[in-house]
Amino acid sequence: MGLVPTMGALHRGHMSLVDEAARHADVVAVSIFVNPTQFGANEDLDQYPRTLDADAEACRQAGVGILFAPGREAMYPEGEETRVRVSATAHDLCGVHRPEHFEGVATIVTKLLTLAGPCVAVFGKKDYQQWRVIERFVTDLFLPVQVVGAPIVRERDGLALSSRNVYLSADERVRALALSRALSAAIGAHRSGERNAEALRSLVRRAIEPAFDSIDYITTADPRSVVPIDGEVGDEALLAVAAHIGSTRLIDNVVLGVDDPPIADVSS
Ligand code: AMP
Repeated sequence: MGLVPTMGALHRGHMSLVDEAARHADVVAVSIFVNPTQFGANEDLDQYPRTLDADAEACRQAGVGILFAPGREAMYPEGEETRVRVSATAHDLCGVHRPEHFEGVATIVTKLLTLAGPCVAVFGKKDYQQWRVIERFVTDLFLPVQVVGAPIVRERDGLALSSRNVYLSADERVRALALSRALSAAIGAHRSGERNAEALRSLVRRAIEPAFDSIDYITTADPRSVVPIDGEVGDEALLAVAAHIGSTRLIDNVVLGVDDPPIADVSS
């Protein structure tokens, strides 16, 4: 079995994980659960899009064998008090701005892996740090599952698909493109030999500051450990961003030296 854990409002990004799981497994299972413990007190748990009927249809059409959409009480029954916490990998980037987030993620994913018992579980590199956190606890807890990371699926104009994109107004949707353009420009600079972490980060900052309302972080990091790098980055480096447009928080990333630019021609 190949498991694809999601929070629903399924889009092509999620369905690419289903396709990836089908390459590794005979039966694909999708879970849909908007996990309350990974949302902070002032975050969008209540507003988070819930489209279960459409999601079920998309799963049916994609040949998903099992759809698991439990209620809150099933995953957090009365009396539960156990959490899974990852230290260094979860410490920086989103860990700084969403202090309880990865504990919620690690806890729910551990429960889902334990319940489903898949051979393979597929996660998107859209949530790059999440993927590395999951790899970490799966290794540390000796969970018998192979963790697969799948590439980011984007719109043609570069915007990374996200269930949260529905929050964006038409104007905000246009402004959001600054992010993938900035990451493309950073790939260009890295390819031209730029290795100074601060120079790469400021290039991104200058490009997104006019379009975004606030920036949580622009971080260069080791692509394996997700530990931030200052000074010089290597031939391969994670460049990850979280920033807000209005009340919508968007994240995106590239691995410099590995990924192709989200937008082929950044001058157009
Ligand atoms: P979510 O429903 O947002 O919790 O995401 C469920 C899974 O889908 C996670 O492993 C995400 O990283 C992955 N995912 C979400 N958006 C994308 C995308 N645009 N491309 C690839 N994977 C994605």
